[in-house]
Amino acid sequence: MRNMTGSFVDLGISPPILKAIEEMGYTAPTEIQSKAIPHILNRQDLIVRAKTGSGKTAVFGVSLLQLTDADAPGPQALILTPTRELAVQVDNDLKQLGRHLKHKTTVVYGKHSMNAEVQAIRKGVTILTGTPGRVYDHIEHGNLDTGNIRFLVLDEADRMLDMGFIGQVESIIRTLPRDRVTLLFSATIPPEIERICARYMKNPMTVEIESPT
Ligand code: ADP
Ligand code: MG
Repeated sequence: MRNMTGSFVDLGISPPILKAIEEMGYTAPTEIQSKAIPHILNRQDLIVRAKTGSGKTAVFGVSLLQLTDADAPGPQALILTPTRELAVQVDNDLKQLGRHLKHKTTVVYGKHSMNAEVQAIRKGVTILTGTPGRVYDHIEHGNLDTGNIRFLVLDEADRMLDMGFIGQVESIIRTLPRDRVTLLFSATIPPEIERICARYMKNPMTVEIESPT
């Protein structure tokens, strides 16, 4: 059983997202969702440490959908994940959570057609999810303008570190506007991740739970 606390309405989530959440069958926020979402909606840089299965995707998914504007140029939010499977899963969750909004989301990852991804990016993207290598490829090839990105999510940061992607993650971060919100999600915070937080986040606050129970 997940630890359910309060209601989604109390977190300040907008009606179209509340409707999608209800349709997805989420009856109440998980503990990490209750603790973290209000800070993100206040545009606070956040380090979220919680085990797998605690509902971290919706923490940033709900928040980014609410804070980005489907009518403004994008991408406004960038989500980096360690694997293709996770990137696709995150993008699917965004599509579900955003089903009553006009936001466009797309996903980029290795071994997928660069050309198809470029077409999708050109059609306009509000929230882009991808693996670090492929995202960096698109930036280097001039396919992806990072100038409008106001939100960066590093999902499963410890796994990105273990898989050797931190150098690419840093190369991507260095192309982003400095005026942005940075959110880091991880099950563990090893020293190398602490260094990333210190270097690239603005007065980050840490929200953590010991176990999803
Ligand atoms: P994490 O990223 O922390 O490992 P996920 O975001 O992948 O966790 O969520 C784990 C599972 O819990 C997913 O199947 C997701 O759909 C489900 N889930 C997330 N939030 C809720 C909620 N509030 N109520 C019910 N199920 C939820
Ligand atoms: Mg996750």
